Amino acid sequence: MLELRNITAGYDNGTVLLDVSLTVPDRATVALLGPNGAGKTTLLRVASGLLKPYSGQILINGQDVTGDPAFKVSRKGIIHVPEGRGIFPSLTVSDNILLQSPAGQFKKGFRTATSTFPRLQERARQIARTLSGGEQQMLALSHAYVSDPQVVLLDEVSMGLAPKIVEEIFDYLADLGRQGVAQLLVEQYVGQALRMADYVYILDRGRISFAGEPGEISEETIMNSYLGSL
Ligand code: ATP
Repeated sequence: MLELRNITAGYDNGTVLLDVSLTVPDRATVALLGPNGAGKTTLLRVASGLLKPYSGQILINGQDVTGDPAFKVSRKGIIHVPEGRGIFPSLTVSDNILLQSPAGQFKKGFRTATSTFPRLQERARQIARTLSGGEQQMLALSHAYVSDPQVVLLDEVSMGLAPKIVEEIFDYLADLGRQGVAQLLVEQYVGQALRMADYVYILDRGRISFAGEPGEISEETIMNSYLGSL
């Protein structure tokens, strides 16, 4: 279980998150929604140790990891698939999988990645930058499969992809959920996120404006709240 408690965080030019608390229970899918600039990416960066909060706590299974660097947080089972994919574009597909795999487990990692995404097997020697957008996103998502995480932080993994590929990506996320991997999902496709999620949080200008189950809020209310905050 991942818990963020009363997080306040930001950058040199100002505070972005104000007293944000959020829980990702074991095996649950949690959608984090909100308008552009609300602070969703910033929250994922805090959760994965990339950005140290000004105050508040980050706990993994009750253990305080606040201030731990990202590599330590990832060893504790929190994997971040960042906005913009987070692959190494000038390396081959197989070298990317090597870097995603836990130390000494490349063969196992490669088997897992390529049995999940057969296209990565066909493209193993190809430079990642030359893959299609959908294939690049599959390569980014393979990180969540090969590293056997507890919680995956997914930042707009559908961004810039054709609708058919987006559907495919959501199928992979559902599959990951069935394997018992908890997910914190930042997504622009609100309807799809509500269908997948066990819990929903809405972030608005750095504060949580709604926390509950998807049945408690409609897509329309969420979209209206986005417009209201512009
Ligand atoms: P989007 O949906 O547009 O990606 P978001 O909800 O993920 O938005 P963030 O990317 O977290 O929002 O940005 C929140 C605020 O923090 C914005 O005002 C943004 O300009 C600012 N911000 C983000 N990253 C940085 C950074 N590295 N340095 C300074 N300010 C930043």
